[in-house]
Amino acid sequence: MRDKYADKNAVITGGSSGIGFATAKLLVDGGARVVITGRSRTTLDAATERLGKNALAVRSDVASLPDLDALAARVRDELGTVEALFVNAGITTAMPFASTTEEMYDESFAINVKGAFFTVQKLAPLLSTGAGVVLTTSAANVMGMQDVSVYAAGKAALRSMARSFSRELLPRGIRVNAISPGPVDTGILENTMTKEAADRFKADRVAENPMQRFGTPEEIARAMAFLAFDATYTTGTEFVADGGITQL
Ligand code: NAD
Repeated sequence: MRDKYADKNAVITGGSSGIGFATAKLLVDGGARVVITGRSRTTLDAATERLGKNALAVRSDVASLPDLDALAARVRDELGTVEALFVNAGITTAMPFASTTEEMYDESFAINVKGAFFTVQKLAPLLSTGAGVVLTTSAANVMGMQDVSVYAAGKAALRSMARSFSRELLPRGIRVNAISPGPVDTGILENTMTKEAADRFKADRVAENPMQRFGTPEEIARAMAFLAFDATYTTGTEFVADGGITQL
């Protein structure tokens, strides 16, 4: 709908690709002003070129608290208040539990867990009454999947944070929910695995999924926008969009 998000301001971490980009596109097309973040200036610039003048890109690493402080200051200057915060930035670390290194563990938790926690903490002062926060978990957080023990544990931590943040932000009328995507083909796998490992992983995911397919970034974006803007009697929950893999 053309003006569904008119007068709404949104911030999307990791918004230059995949699910984050699809969410930015949905909101901008509906009239919102959107700030997207990421670590690469080139990728961010390419994304804003596709999104148009209602999107602004801020280079900001979610694992860096000074970057998050700078992001909050920039968002305050550019948007003033925020009606929807999408905590979407994340990386997949695929490695058997036995060979996972301390470095892999620390990087995964620094981005996926610490990054999410402080993104919400730093941007919370800008959230308006009735605003929605969406944390991005994963079907992996409730499954015993092969080779993603660190990633899955981090996403389970985010599921817990959705409840705790909901409690603490409720006095301000702010709702916090999680979206739990199943397999979505966005390129995230190829960014963090070899091509062979990614192909194998993808074939396994399709074979085991009740819908026998991957989800699209646009399907997840619609669910995220629903949680942020339409689910006004819902807080602390995790909305599952995974082709049924964790439910059937
Ligand atoms: P993606 O790689 O396209 O998106 C991740 C984004 O996060 C990228 O834009 C990347 O630049 C950004 N990012 C990574 N580290 C960052 C950092 N330190 N600071 C700022 N930005 C950073 O992949 P995606 O599939 O769109 O993933 C989006 C979210 O969805 C992630 O949290 C991911 O864990 C989650 N998820 C994805 C799937 C899937 O199958 N694709 C399934 C479940 C959950």
